[in-house]
Amino acid sequence: MHWTIDIPLTNFQQRLKSSDLKRSTLSDLDVAQNHDPILNFALKLVILAVIPTIIVVLILPENLKLLVLLYIAVIIFLFVKASYNETYYECPKCKALFKPDFTDHVLAPHQTYLKLLKCPKCGKISWCPLKIFMGKDVRVKVKPPEEKLDANLERCLKIFTFFYIISLMPSILKLNWFPLIPSTVIYIIVFAELKNAIKKGYRTHVLQALTYFLIIPLMLFFFLGFVVE
Ligand SMILES: [Zn+2]
Repeated sequence: MHWTIDIPLTNFQQRLKSSDLKRSTLSDLDVAQNHDPILNFALKLVILAVIPTIIVVLILPENLKLLVLLYIAVIIFLFVKASYNETYYECPKCKALFKPDFTDHVLAPHQTYLKLLKCPKCGKISWCPLKIFMGKDVRVKVKPPEEKLDANLERCLKIFTFFYIISLMPSILKLNWFPLIPSTVIYIIVFAELKNAIKKGYRTHVLQALTYFLIIPLMLFFFLGFVVE
């Protein structure tokens, strides 16, 4: 920035200019600190959800630990709802900027800066980069991957359901209901994601791989954990 002062400024004008300058420097600083709005959001979620949960789990007696799940559910719901405001994606095909519907906001397959969506303008389904998150520009540049959307998600859902039922067996046999809850919560979330993806044609291999290599092993972890016990 360069200053050209041709006419002498009055005291008031001078003050105005310097306060303008101050404001613009401050907002530049804001932008630098909020460079990655997703990171900020994740940090807040950790501070508000994860840390209190760990503390509460350590303090609460066994029979009250269910309250923690309720607390996490409320916090996550509030965060998801807040993150829907002023959040926009860009279609890589026609460059349209659009806001997905709330179901897709929650359930469409996603990666950190990408979401698999159907563009309301050109109707193409593709990985759309996140452009504005909660009113803030997302400056991270990501190249949307080209992917053949032909994953067999029906089969994936069947296998997942099979392992979910397996994961319930030890708890049912031992009449210990507590381990059923995390398994069931995970099942409901992944079931809803898979159903939404099947319905809308979001047949990404990312969702399939995630289910086979992360979610199902997690289910088996619950299963094996309680069988060994
Ligand atoms: Zn488009």
